[in-house]
Amino acid sequence: MASETRPTGAGSGLIAASKTIVSQSTDSPQEARRFDLVWICETCSKPIDNGTGWVHIDYRDINRAEKDLPPEPTGFRVDLGAWMDWKPAHWQVHHKACDPDMDAPDYVIDVDRARTHAKLLGWTAHLMGKTWLDSTDWQELIERQAGAR
Ligand SMILES: [Zn+2]
Repeated sequence: MASETRPTGAGSGLIAASKTIVSQSTDSPQEARRFDLVWICETCSKPIDNGTGWVHIDYRDINRAEKDLPPEPTGFRVDLGAWMDWKPAHWQVHHKACDPDMDAPDYVIDVDRARTHAKLLGWTAHLMGKTWLDSTDWQELIERQAGAR
């Protein structure tokens, strides 16, 4: 925006306003959490800044999970063992630089597009349209980001 480069005049008000928003999100870790979701890299355990990482899932992992899914229970017979052995496809969180498999056929969400609870809710609505969502651990991911665990 051109007005942001102007040192004085109407533009400076805009700069001040945006700086106030930035300082609100850096008051304390607790305050920051209210505004922004923190994504932690599974490889280096450090937070991921916008533009440097993603939430992703490997389609091959989804295919594996769907193939291994225990059969629907019939009558009174539920194969608990099969369910306990079953692992949903795993949503991974990585810095691009830490991603162990850059060539994987992944479904990718950049962290800057999932930085707030509202955006994560939007992704959840979108992903609920996918037949494969139930074969993944998306529920765990949103429970974690909701602070439920
Ligand atoms: Zn990392």
